[in-house]
Amino acid sequence: MEQYCPRCHEQQVFKASHSNVARHAGLLGMLIASSAASYSCPTCGKIALAEFPEEFQSSIKKKRTFMIVGAALLLVGIIAAMAFLELS
Ligand SMILES: [Zn+2]
Repeated sequence: MEQYCPRCHEQQVFKASHSNVARHAGLLGMLIASSAASYSCPTCGKIALAEFPEEFQSSIKKKRTFMIVGAALLLVGIIAAMAFLELS
């Protein structure tokens, strides 16, 4: 998603990556890291989510909710599959 920096209005912000952490923490860590990811401007540095327009904030929050629900469903699926294997 393209979003201009709320401070300088010149540069596009990018998602600060936590790829190293994600690689070591596995899938769940990746989900947590990506839901906690922050945004940075090449000129201004790290930008707090609160500084972005309301519209952008709500779309991020929606995405995060979706990701957390997805992770929860995945976990339930894995647990169910494991329980099923135990029984059979
Ligand atoms: Zn900026």
